[in-house]
Amino acid sequence: MTDEPSSPPEAPRFPLQSVRGVKDVLPAETPAWRHLEAVCRGLFARYGFAEIRTPVFEPTPLFARSIGAETDIVEKEMYTFLDKGGQSLSLRPEGTAGVIRAYIQHGLQQDSLTRVYYLGPMFRHERPQAGRLRQFHQIGLEVLGPAAPAVDVEVLTLLADLFAALGVTGLTLELNAIGCPDCRPAYTKLLTTALEALGDALCADCRRRRATNPLRVLDCKVPECRAATANVPVMSDHLCPACADHFAHVKGGLAQVGIAHVHNPRLVRGLDYYTRTAFEWTAPDLGAQNTVAAGGRYDRLVEDLGGKPRPGIGFALGVERLLSLCPAPPAVRPDLYAVFLGAEAEAQMLPVLRALRAAGLAVDRGFEPGASLKAQLKRANRSGARFCLILGENELAAGVMLLKDMDGHSQREVPRASAAETIRAAVRGA
Ligand SMILES: [Zn+2]
Ligand SMILES: [Zn+2]
Repeated sequence: MTDEPSSPPEAPRFPLQSVRGVKDVLPAETPAWRHLEAVCRGLFARYGFAEIRTPVFEPTPLFARSIGAETDIVEKEMYTFLDKGGQSLSLRPEGTAGVIRAYIQHGLQQDSLTRVYYLGPMFRHERPQAGRLRQFHQIGLEVLGPAAPAVDVEVLTLLADLFAALGVTGLTLELNAIGCPDCRPAYTKLLTTALEALGDALCADCRRRRATNPLRVLDCKVPECRAATANVPVMSDHLCPACADHFAHVKGGLAQVGIAHVHNPRLVRGLDYYTRTAFEWTAPDLGAQNTVAAGGRYDRLVEDLGGKPRPGIGFALGVERLLSLCPAPPAVRPDLYAVFLGAEAEAQMLPVLRALRAAGLAVDRGFEPGASLKAQLKRANRSGARFCLILGENELAAGVMLLKDMDGHSQREVPRASAAETIRAAVRGA
């Protein structure tokens, strides 16, 4: 991968900019993130999933073994470095490997069914000029234990429910069967032979891949490769009876819950560890990078990483991509904005504000008691607060506060002694 040419070291010039290909999530954007995360957490819990949090870096061999040494991710895209002890570490480029490592390490295998989800940043040395992020976010989950096709159906149902809950429509579920260690080797031989016969009709990447990772040739985006491979054999025509039966049951289960899918025989997924079911949810509006969520079954991965044999299935979804499809969540507004004139009013206001916040109200305020009533009311308006609490000279003298309903444009006096109680009741009742 070519990168920016390295320039001679120069003194850093402040203020500094963030690293290329990473992004700040600014306060205006976090409500959408938090909404997405909350919907996921709620739905996952209803499907029986518990959260797992694994480190953002792991020993490099974990990824080389699980994702596959011949994959683009491991060959070109990982942030790999030697730590001060000389150990090769990598920032996680995806979430599954770390989850499986933890699953084996902590003996979670003793449970016959383990359902976990994770969310957090992932890291790949991608090309920022192509609009790709080097720190991006994924939400994913894994089901470890049963190998039944009903598990695949349940995971896909959960995803359909998730998109519905987020108000995301128009996605397509693409599904494929990519075989198992019983049937894939023979198919791979068949495919390799067919690809060799194509000679130079394939792009340079594919000419290399047909020796190392021939399945990947099928999802090359280069039009010449697409055309050249239009008639090569596909895995789903060469499944062993067990894989064919599994695929039929997944399709049947999806039909029972009313989830439409298209069979895409060229869908192979980028990672070596997938077996049997592979799927992607794609969005027509996203252009070339149109995959919103992707995953599949990985019945050999736990074993490959040193655990006892244990089938699994999972998916990961790209948070940034999914957010770009989500309607904006309702704006968050404070319950109340406090306006007060002078130091004495501020002193009287403070315990009331503290009591209101302790009671669960979102309270905003300014910090310039010397500012005019007009200026402070302007700020109250801009804050979008539902109510405004005013303590000026007149109210101070009368022992009251003024509670203004910003939506109804009505106002009332509340006795200062019982202000917190009365205001809380008024705000909750609104
Ligand atoms: Zn098979
Ligand atoms: Zn190609």
